[in-house]
Amino acid sequence: MPVSNSPDMPWLQKAWQTLQQRLDEGTLPHALLVIAEAGVGKRSWADHAAHMLVCSQSPAPCGQCRQCRLVAGGSHPDIRTYGPENRSRVVRVSQIRELIGFAMTSPQVSRRKVAIIDRADQLNPSAANALLKTLEEPPEDLVLILLQESGRPILPTIRSRCQVMTLPPPVGDQALGWLLEAAKGLDQVDEALCRTALHLAGGAPGLALEYLQTDLVAGRDRALDHFRKYLKAQMTVNQAARPFRELGLEQALRLLEGWAADLARVGAGGMAYDTSAADVLGYLAGRNPAWRAHELLAAIRESRAALTNNVNADLEIQRLLIGWQGLMPRRSGPKMAGQGAAH
Ligand SMILES: [Zn+2]
Repeated sequence: MPVSNSPDMPWLQKAWQTLQQRLDEGTLPHALLVIAEAGVGKRSWADHAAHMLVCSQSPAPCGQCRQCRLVAGGSHPDIRTYGPENRSRVVRVSQIRELIGFAMTSPQVSRRKVAIIDRADQLNPSAANALLKTLEEPPEDLVLILLQESGRPILPTIRSRCQVMTLPPPVGDQALGWLLEAAKGLDQVDEALCRTALHLAGGAPGLALEYLQTDLVAGRDRALDHFRKYLKAQMTVNQAARPFRELGLEQALRLLEGWAADLARVGAGGMAYDTSAADVLGYLAGRNPAWRAHELLAAIRESRAALTNNVNADLEIQRLLIGWQGLMPRRSGPKMAGQGAAH
């Protein structure tokens, strides 16, 4: 039984069992590409998997052996993680060179080495190319775990060299149950707030926890308030962009994406997931053809792709907000039915 730092994410249990099984059968691939939605627990899965892979007992992790004690102490020398550092949005080639160096040396205390790339969809092009060489001829004692967020592209040449594993999102009350437990130590967090956070996070518990920790729920309220004022032309786009900027481009994109998806939903006769924005989205949906929502979604995808190229976050947010403004009826346009009939 997993004892030390056993992650309590019941929806990931099966994927860990699969890994354990491959480990027991000796059919473990050298490179795993693990795909999941944001906030489902990719990193927890990978950390736990790395722990399983270095433990010297079976079923792993035993929680007793030297390897397990090193992992519990946070200093296992045969596990390395590479991800965007120092406010960078990309995994750099220098990091991949470091990974290659790590891959070439013998394990220090375990049977194998584990390198996690969190995340493979943020590798910059030269980093991706450098990684390819290692993927082509991986050392026997190395397991590479690449994490990819669903919908974020990675090079097909990388993907084709990995065994792909998709982590399922939580079902039923699993997410809320986990979030209530994980948010226990946080100030002024109750079940209602947890539900709101989950809702904003599209049901992804890890993301919802991040929202609670970073006060994103309040940040979202500020952003929505500015968004409304901007649409009503009570604010400049620069002013409106401020609370979005404070959220960070990644979160701002998620928020705008959620609203655009809601707009499409409402336009098709459905309900907005983000109930507090439902009025403004309902208003816009009633005045625009359905393709406008898809146009907004496409613009967000473009901004997301640009994220890996160190774009100017402020300009991206303003560009997207201007796109939304384009959905408002023209101020001088036919507000009353009579005017429209004039020609
Ligand atoms: Zn162990």
